[in-house]
Amino acid sequence: MTSSMPARQMAEELVANLGCRPGSSLEDIQERVALFHQKEIALHPVDDVELRNITGLWVETELTSHVFFRNDDPKLYQTHSIFHEFGHIIADHSTCGVLSFIDNTLLGTAPLGGQIQRARARGFNQDEDETLAEEIAYALSRLVIAGSAVGIRAVFE
Ligand SMILES: [Zn+2]
Repeated sequence: MTSSMPARQMAEELVANLGCRPGSSLEDIQERVALFHQKEIALHPVDDVELRNITGLWVETELTSHVFFRNDDPKLYQTHSIFHEFGHIIADHSTCGVLSFIDNTLLGTAPLGGQIQRARARGFNQDEDETLAEEIAYALSRLVIAGSAVGIRAVFE
């Protein structure tokens, strides 16, 4: 994979590697991402105030990757934010400048089960990594939707 490859194509390849079937649920995808990542993934809804300017956050520790999303966001948007963080995980992105941010929130004192190894936040900055994580989120959504299209045809044809 080269960086000249369009983000959407890279995202499609990374998602294909997960081996999720069309119509996978969020839980199915979470399981595949955890297998790929070789680490447990824990999802945490948090109060808005803790994620003031970002919509999602990935914090990796030795044993677990934690994905935080806003409790107040609509379900669909929560799923997108979670898929975006899964994007950083499967693209194996390194830390962006959020560690000091985490230290200054309640998340810094959350029981994460060890030292933080990596962290990424959605909505913190715009760069190539963010674009790819967004494309992966869309690709994962297409997987979920692909299943319902089949289901709809089965009912109406
Ligand atoms: Zn991001």
